[in-house]
Amino acid sequence: MTWDYNNHEGRAATIVDGGRRVVSYASDGMVLEDGTSVADSDAIGWRAECSCGWKAPLMFERVSDPSAALKPWQVFETEGGWAPKEIEDICHTEWLDHVRPEMGIDAVRQAAEDHRLSGERLDGSVAEARQRGVSWADIGKAVGVTRQTAHERWKALSQNPR
Ligand SMILES: [Zn+2]
Repeated sequence: MTWDYNNHEGRAATIVDGGRRVVSYASDGMVLEDGTSVADSDAIGWRAECSCGWKAPLMFERVSDPSAALKPWQVFETEGGWAPKEIEDICHTEWLDHVRPEMGIDAVRQAAEDHRLSGERLDGSVAEARQRGVSWADIGKAVGVTRQTAHERWKALSQNPR
């Protein structure tokens, strides 16, 4: 399971001994970055990661001893392999926090673009209204500004500036 946003691809990565990353899962174990195959039970934990290089500060540590007193970052899990559902959900939330600022700036960029386009539409419609003989006073009223403000703002666009 991976999560996508722009150039970010996040996942709950399975970590094995030495901090090495699992890149794929097979029926008989897991394959590491360097091509080595390891058993599911070699998983020491899971951590949210992103293709941009970001990693969650904390790894969830897999604990296979049922008598262990678990800390908040430890998970009792006997199998290894894929992240358990609840860990994957937490990793997803952490990854969303990682991409959230970029989502915010994308929304601003989109709104700025919409704003620019509607400004162009307004300019075009004012120029056309002037061509049709509409007064600056009526244009100002339609826009919600004074006659003088409308004139100052659009006289350069108008073929009929006065
Ligand atoms: Zn990222």
